[in-house]
Amino acid sequence: MPTHNADIAAIFTEMADLLEIEQANPFRIRAYRNAARIVGEMGREVRAMVARDEDLTDLPGIGDDLAGKMREIVDTGRCRALDKLHAELPPAITELLHVPGLGPKRVRMLWHELDVQTLEQLARAARDGRIRDLPGFGAKMEANILQAVEAHLSKARRIKLITAAQYAESLVAWLASAYGVSRVEVAGSYRRCRETVGDLDILVIAAAGSSVMARFIAFDEAAEVLSHGPTRASVVLKCGLQVDLRVVERAAYGAALCYFTGSKAHNIALRRLAQEQGLKLNEYGVFRGRERIAGASEESVYQALGLPWIAPELREDRGEIAAARAGRLPQLVELADLRGDLHAHTRATDGHHTLEEMALAAKALGLSYLAITEHSRRLAMAHGLDPRRLADQCDAIDRLNEKLAGIVLLKGIEVDILEDGSLDLPDASLARLDLVIGAVHSRFDLPRARQTERILRAMDNPYFTLLAHPTGRVIESREPYDVDMLRIIRQARQRGCFLELNAHPERLDLLDSHCMMAKEEGVLVAINSDAHSRDDFVHLRLGIGQARRGWLAATDVLNTRPLPELRLLLEQVRR
Ligand SMILES: [Zn+2]
Ligand SMILES: [Zn+2]
Repeated sequence: MPTHNADIAAIFTEMADLLEIEQANPFRIRAYRNAARIVGEMGREVRAMVARDEDLTDLPGIGDDLAGKMREIVDTGRCRALDKLHAELPPAITELLHVPGLGPKRVRMLWHELDVQTLEQLARAARDGRIRDLPGFGAKMEANILQAVEAHLSKARRIKLITAAQYAESLVAWLASAYGVSRVEVAGSYRRCRETVGDLDILVIAAAGSSVMARFIAFDEAAEVLSHGPTRASVVLKCGLQVDLRVVERAAYGAALCYFTGSKAHNIALRRLAQEQGLKLNEYGVFRGRERIAGASEESVYQALGLPWIAPELREDRGEIAAARAGRLPQLVELADLRGDLHAHTRATDGHHTLEEMALAAKALGLSYLAITEHSRRLAMAHGLDPRRLADQCDAIDRLNEKLAGIVLLKGIEVDILEDGSLDLPDASLARLDLVIGAVHSRFDLPRARQTERILRAMDNPYFTLLAHPTGRVIESREPYDVDMLRIIRQARQRGCFLELNAHPERLDLLDSHCMMAKEEGVLVAINSDAHSRDDFVHLRLGIGQARRGWLAATDVLNTRPLPELRLLLEQVRR
């Protein structure tokens, strides 16, 4: 029974939610939340650690109790403590917590006072005007709740790319080992590296008599088989994700891969192009009359239409076909192009490992430099650095660099941009650093003009180098703050500073469209992990996917530069 990290994280998150509604001890709740975050973002599978009998309490924030529960979940797929909580509370009540404005206290009150236990009941209570009279609610809140619930109920469920990847990778390995299978690939928005994925489309080439279909519906994570035939099957996984499998003939594989990779808009544009040339394009190939002239490989399909192969990340009908025709497709950046990472935290603030541990982990990934950029004092929750502690860390980095080989630590800071646009540390402290990352971590609600001015002013600081996670969004849970990104990008060009593409799986910020904007304006983008632990550097590959969606080539990316060249660029930013 393979249990993925996402399963464990989901169980811990649910426990924390239920405990909050029960008004349990806040420390206990926080421990589950932290554990969910750590497990959900880890690069390694917990079940592999359990299989090797590794000590789970080595993981940050994981004590004996949580380690025991993780082993229980890996071994049995369940957690008795969660079952117990479920027995005490209504089954769907945690969904209410995801409505903006509803914390555990309010959810508890809705449940006790109005017997609201589901989103549907919540919407009904709001429509009937029964919520406004509850203490602490009011008519405005009632209207907001109704709007949010209706939007939520109508929105199809999508899951984050990193979670989809855990299922996609194990499904591919599982299917590839079936008898007669010679090729397995995940198509769809997953292959295009969309930040969220609605379902998985898997294509297979299999010999006659292959066991691939039987194997597919026997996948451990499959909860329900929706349909099941000789060449097509659909299942829903326990996590709610739908997976469609198609067995495709070899001669049509490329056409099918192209068709099921999408996007829809890209496919429509390709079909139009085919028609203009008197050809027909569908999932079986490119046809002239009844003759199939291409289809075995994607390259053959594009070639038959007079185009070079187009990378999946570009297939959104945002000019890629015209660029392909004109021979102007970008040479997209790859993970191997990255020479370093410019955003990471250590134990000095809210990270989990030491300077040296982080340096060695980055080196093991083939990076040759790593900037340490802790939070500044304003973020008290993260134990942010004041000038004295920052100076101490700089000394420690200098000492460590003398003994490190093959990797250089750069001295940096992720300094808070305060509400008025000033930075959270004095210039005298910033002057000693190799780079200064400015970040908005508060007042996400400022109106557009003020939010934009705030960031522009911060960029005016003579030491400002790089704008972290520029829109502040958190995927599926916090909308970007309202800001004029084009103005910010233009100002960055004039000022000569850079923007970050934060590769954290919940952020992926810059958005792809802003990457295109930055490229257009000639502003370099740094693809950074924002690692809080030595396992987090693996997230860089998500950032690469996002950068590729944004058309970035290696030359458009700041940290593809070798260290001496990077140093020059960083020095030029200073005024
Ligand atoms: Zn940050
Ligand atoms: Zn950070």
